[in-house]
Amino acid sequence: MSHHHSNGKYAWQKTPRVDPPKRAARERTSDFREIYSLLDEETIRQQASRCVQCAYPFCRTGCPLGNRIPEWLACAAAGDFLEAAALSRSTSNMPEICSRVCPQERLCEGACALNARSEPVPIGAIEKFINEYALRRGVVEVTNLPPNGLRVAIVGSGPAGIACADELAARGYEVMVFEALSRLGGLLVNGIPAFKLEKSVVERRLELLRQRGVVFRTGVTVGQELSLSNLLTEFNAVFLGIGAQKPKPLDISGAQLKGVHDALPFLIEKNVGISPGGSPIAVKDKRVAVLGGGDTAMDCLRTAIRCGASEAVCLYRRDLANMPGSRREYQSALEEGAVFQFLTNPVSLGSDAVGRVTHVGCVRMELGEPDAKGRRKPFPVPGSDFLVETDIVLVAYGFDPVPFPPGNDLAAIQRTDWGGLIVDANQMTSRPGVFSGGDMVRGPSLVVDAVRDGRRAALGIHQYLSQRQATPHQRDEPKKCVPV
Ligand SMILES: Cc1cc2nc3c(=O)[nH]c(=O)nc-3n(C[C@H](O)[C@H](O)[C@H](O)COP(=O)(O)OP(=O)(O)OC[C@H]3O[C@@H](n4cnc5c(N)ncnc54)[C@H](O)[C@@H]3O)c2cc1C
Repeated sequence: MSHHHSNGKYAWQKTPRVDPPKRAARERTSDFREIYSLLDEETIRQQASRCVQCAYPFCRTGCPLGNRIPEWLACAAAGDFLEAAALSRSTSNMPEICSRVCPQERLCEGACALNARSEPVPIGAIEKFINEYALRRGVVEVTNLPPNGLRVAIVGSGPAGIACADELAARGYEVMVFEALSRLGGLLVNGIPAFKLEKSVVERRLELLRQRGVVFRTGVTVGQELSLSNLLTEFNAVFLGIGAQKPKPLDISGAQLKGVHDALPFLIEKNVGISPGGSPIAVKDKRVAVLGGGDTAMDCLRTAIRCGASEAVCLYRRDLANMPGSRREYQSALEEGAVFQFLTNPVSLGSDAVGRVTHVGCVRMELGEPDAKGRRKPFPVPGSDFLVETDIVLVAYGFDPVPFPPGNDLAAIQRTDWGGLIVDANQMTSRPGVFSGGDMVRGPSLVVDAVRDGRRAALGIHQYLSQRQATPHQRDEPKKCVPV
């Protein structure tokens, strides 16, 4: 291996892009461990030196967090991994997680200027390396500003809530996180499979928040045991980050048949080991059909393969070019043996005498002209009906925000027609002092978007409470601990 780290702007001409080692498909499908390992220090330095340090770094604008990518690449190229990690942490509350789950090909790496001439810098792999380097050496800062006497409640422990909690604790706020489930982490733990993000990585991040003084309360559903108004009497502000986890319904005939399941309970059962839907879903030696083409569909296919499914087929109504799921995950699913049937729209489910699903009735689609958003609408090809035989159907058609029962004070907050909370530029909802972000505002989105919203909300809360403190008649007394 050569030792040219500082061969200036032209390193990329001599050094091709290197991706981190990926475990062989046959090996990785026999467990749920992460599939990539870290690049070595020498390769990281060489790869970081491929960055041309553009005057207008598109990678930064391509990142929802505006990560200071060229700056930390320069540090990494010089071998100063700790400084690189510190810069990386300055704009992200969980860079070791984003580096694992971001679709970099659509974000930073997709925007890298080298795409025009060569291949982009492996930004995600370098972000993972520098942050693992710092975390494993225990040099990640967890000291806060002195306590400011203000208290904030965070509802939901997904990436939006975690990012908001982390930012506020660092600014001297007393922060308490309320989580409905017994496990913390939101979809980082209960959605995204361990082969993309090992659970211990999320636990390590949560431990850093505990060191910051953030208090976590599990098994508390806000809106049931505890109302929003209760929270607002005990806390100076509230952040709602409860996501969007209501599955979009499958409205074709046969949707109620035995063997037809929603994606999320399946993923939770196989990844976390508990069965939210009651009895476990057996897929060993079964044929599994996954409906949908997003991240959730990819994860279902790859999880089914790891659980011994004899066949994992994705039925998606558009083509590969118009599929929303990440290309990297699609590639991994292919390697692991998943089969993709594009331009295939499921229109009915058939069953045997005891009501178990036996096949998916499908119709072939073709794509029309691009619409205003550039997406091509699929149309059925007349007379093209065909059957796909199967034993298990997993529905991955996306999610909507969970509605609140009328009368609940959460239901009084303004929402869009599809149920997303409406927020202003500071992430504040229609109820003063109540902020929100992540999937609850955007609908199903990305971890990095949730982190961005959580950070912006923390800043919004800080500004909102600083203004109120400056106005004496509105001043809130610090409140006592909420008895839950
Ligand atoms: C299967 C799957 C795979 C995905 N893969 C990727 C990926 O590879 N890369 C990527 O960037 N994104 C991925 N995503 C999307 C990403 O996980 C989400 O966009 C992100 O987690 C949203 O964060 P959040 O904090 O808004 O909500 P969530 O992560 O959904 O967290 C919300 C939390 O609030 C809790 N909660 C709900 N109601 C209440 C209540 N009333 N009181 C208290 N707590 C409550 C929930 O239990 C949950 O813990 C994936 C999503 C799924 C479903």
